[in-house]
Amino acid sequence: MEVYKLLYINGEWVESETNRSFPVYNPANGEEIGEVADGNRNDTKKAIEAAAQSFKTWSKLTAYERSSYLYKAYQIMMERKEELARLMTIEQGKPLKASRNEVQYGADFLLWYAEEAKRVYGEIIPAQRRDQRFLAIRQPVGVIGAITPWNYPVSMITRKLAPALAAGCTVVLKPAEETPLCAKEVFKVLADAGIPNGVINLVSSANPEEIGEELLSNKAVKKITFTGSTNVGKLLAEKAARYVKRISMELGGHAPFIVYDDADPVHAAKGVSLVKFLNTGQACISPNRIFVHRSIAEEFTNTLIERVNKLRAGNGLEEGVSIGPLVNEAAIEKVDDQVKDAIERGASLKIGGNRMIENGLGKGNYYAPTILSGINKEMKIFSEETFGPVAPIIIFDSDEEVMEMANDTNYGLAAYVYTNNLSRAMRAFEELNFGIIGINDINPTSAAAPFGGMNESGLGREGGREGIEEYLETKLGGFSI
Ligand code: ADP
Repeated sequence: MEVYKLLYINGEWVESETNRSFPVYNPANGEEIGEVADGNRNDTKKAIEAAAQSFKTWSKLTAYERSSYLYKAYQIMMERKEELARLMTIEQGKPLKASRNEVQYGADFLLWYAEEAKRVYGEIIPAQRRDQRFLAIRQPVGVIGAITPWNYPVSMITRKLAPALAAGCTVVLKPAEETPLCAKEVFKVLADAGIPNGVINLVSSANPEEIGEELLSNKAVKKITFTGSTNVGKLLAEKAARYVKRISMELGGHAPFIVYDDADPVHAAKGVSLVKFLNTGQACISPNRIFVHRSIAEEFTNTLIERVNKLRAGNGLEEGVSIGPLVNEAAIEKVDDQVKDAIERGASLKIGGNRMIENGLGKGNYYAPTILSGINKEMKIFSEETFGPVAPIIIFDSDEEVMEMANDTNYGLAAYVYTNNLSRAMRAFEELNFGIIGINDINPTSAAAPFGGMNESGLGREGGREGIEEYLETKLGGFSI
């Protein structure tokens, strides 16, 4: 078992002031896989101080210099792809193939922002006075406080760090307490790429609130970037408001998946089976409400059941496993509660609906891939995010009705539409109040494209051209000549 009682501050792996550590478990079997340092507020202060000092030099490098560090980090991450993927499966639980995909996605951000670093342009604005010139420049915001979740433990870090570093910012990161080992390995990649001391700092902790408090209240931190639950996001946003601190947030989702009557029900069902059970449903863009037109509902449901029947749950290191464990016991309870509530209120259970304690999976957090039909608005699952392997099917009759139901949520992250009618596709794309829409497509994400939510799903965008904007401040110069 690895013991990492270390934090990364000012370019050094150091002990926490507390001298305490906390355990990390493999969700596939409940075994302890490591111990990490339990950082506290003072450790965070030191990390912020280091980031503030190094900002003075990092922000003055040329974009080309910063870009070269990111290229190097990309190369190192690709070299370590397999070991990073294995660690991710052991620590987070997703099947190895999915872990490899995530490491690739994580590395893609390093490469994309190595390139975008060189495209931070300013503007010359025509003035109304003949003797005046306006010049708008873009400068790095300063020290960034980043807080990341456990469900995508590598890519959620690079999605924040790569654009921040490209822009010229320096960072203090607090990773999720469930997956600090992945964070350590990402930091090793960045450190081995030669990123100067103090530019990136890592404070793992079992007390996120304490670390968050320091990141929010410390004047040297100019912006908080957060990915996690809507509840915690709101809490952080409230506190950030006290200091008028910039925030960007990627929060929960409640994605509708609409299958219109002209769509191929078999193709659509295959799509749902792939995207719904990805990461065992623990993704903020996971479909949470599957709307199917009445005329094709039977064929769609039968195909989905067939597909789900073929999914094999287990330890993600084993060949052929397509469903990993949920992150912890609380996650299982939440999923089970939503399923029971739906059944009590009249939903019909098509498959699954139970913990998987048979097949030797008793010690892991496994919940059977589940399909429910006959879902209505009274059920919790209609309005609450599930974050688990449950596909709830809702039948609709008209385009107007489905659009109203799909938009009837406080969330607004991802939505999916299956149709072969171009006008319908375009209307749905325009009318859905979500930030990311997959049209006959179950993977509308890329380091090159803007990702983010509307309403209570978040603020700001990550990835794409937009991602770096979150780390830049615009400064106007008015010159009299
Ligand atoms: P999830 O429900 O997916 O675990 P959370 O929002 O609880 O999502 O966690 C996402 C990240 O936010 C994690 O890094 C976690 O440690 C952190 N976090 C949780 N509560 C707080 C808080 N009160 N202040 C700061 N960070 C927090």
